[in-house]
Amino acid sequence: MPADLPLSTDVSLAPFNTFRIPARARRYLRVTDPAQLQAVAADAQLAALPRLVLGGGSNLLIARDEVDALVLHMGLEGREIVGATAGAILVRAQAGENWHAFVEWTLAQGLGGLENMALIPGTVGASPIQNIGAYGAEVKDSFHSLTVFDFADGSIRTMDAAACRFGYRDSVFKHAEGSTLVVLDVTFALPRAWTPNLRYAELAQAVQDIAAPTARAVADAVIAIRRRKLPDPAEIGNAGSFFKNPVVPREHCARLLATWPDLVHHAQPDGSEKLAAGWLIDRCGWKGKNLGRAGVYPKQALVLVNNGGATGGEIMALARAIQADVEARFGVRLEPEPVLV
Ligand SMILES: Cc1cc2nc3c(=O)[nH]c(=O)nc-3n(C[C@H](O)[C@H](O)[C@H](O)COP(=O)(O)OP(=O)(O)OC[C@H]3O[C@@H](n4cnc5c(N)ncnc54)[C@H](O)[C@@H]3O)c2cc1C
Repeated sequence: MPADLPLSTDVSLAPFNTFRIPARARRYLRVTDPAQLQAVAADAQLAALPRLVLGGGSNLLIARDEVDALVLHMGLEGREIVGATAGAILVRAQAGENWHAFVEWTLAQGLGGLENMALIPGTVGASPIQNIGAYGAEVKDSFHSLTVFDFADGSIRTMDAAACRFGYRDSVFKHAEGSTLVVLDVTFALPRAWTPNLRYAELAQAVQDIAAPTARAVADAVIAIRRRKLPDPAEIGNAGSFFKNPVVPREHCARLLATWPDLVHHAQPDGSEKLAAGWLIDRCGWKGKNLGRAGVYPKQALVLVNNGGATGGEIMALARAIQADVEARFGVRLEPEPVLV
């Protein structure tokens, strides 16, 4: 085993996941240099271990007491303006940078483009994994390229948007083909000629009194809305939206509308309909309810919370009960958004 790798054993992951699940990692490495990943890959014993790449732990549910894997906790730091194209300025941040601090930094440079995604927890390196999005914007809209380390062959290479195969809360990194990849840094192309993205009605309303809203003003509005609606993980354990919004065929949506005329639905370009998972959960009576020490956030039915001391198993039991009720009532299977470990 490489003597210079600062490997630890039996490390508590409670401070490193926003659900505050008190699991322990059998082996743990804080990654502060890509060369450490190369050293892990070159060591036969370490390379053979199962791996968990960890960013801010804000999109994970650890359902076990012990994570029997080598946890690679991304601590790569740094952000810089790296170039320009005819229409955009290119900015790059290392994987371990805090996402919101990076958004704030881009705004301080006078660059707009990421403001609708202000205050999303987690790291820059995780932002492409599920193509994070909020208030009508997604990472893929501002994405330029990223750098990965590949455990399959020890190489470091650049990937463009097509190679990342971004979808709704999805990318190649969530599939078998991407499972050996660790994101080292991400580059964004931020427009020289910025215009506000106010497609999301609640956001448009929040800035309606400002004649020409700046990117800073839009970010402030987003931050205010999020603080009002979402629990702060520093105060109450959660991982944001626990379920993805389900997409159903148009005919299924029409059948539901016949019974529930106020069903929240959004037509998709391919003719299918995206339903609001929070609405479905609310209609099953789960908002504000608890099951053991796990609960459904009273202000937002899509958010499951740790009311204090809940295990990952208790959160999963609540998630399964909700899934069963929603499926029985609406014939729709809800899929968890966080990664289950
Ligand atoms: C209060 C709250 C609100 C939220 N709101 C939103 C929202 O509005 N929109 C949204 O999209 N999400 C939201 N989320 C979810 C979460 O913030 C994002 O998914 C975020 O990108 C997760 O980042 P992380 O660093 O915490 O990732 P982690 O939870 O540490 O990891 C998530 C997944 O990414 C993988 N991963 C992490 N870093 C890397 C890397 N460098 N290379 C390869 N794989 C990696 C992990 O292995 C894991 O599979 C919210 C969460 C919370 C708690």
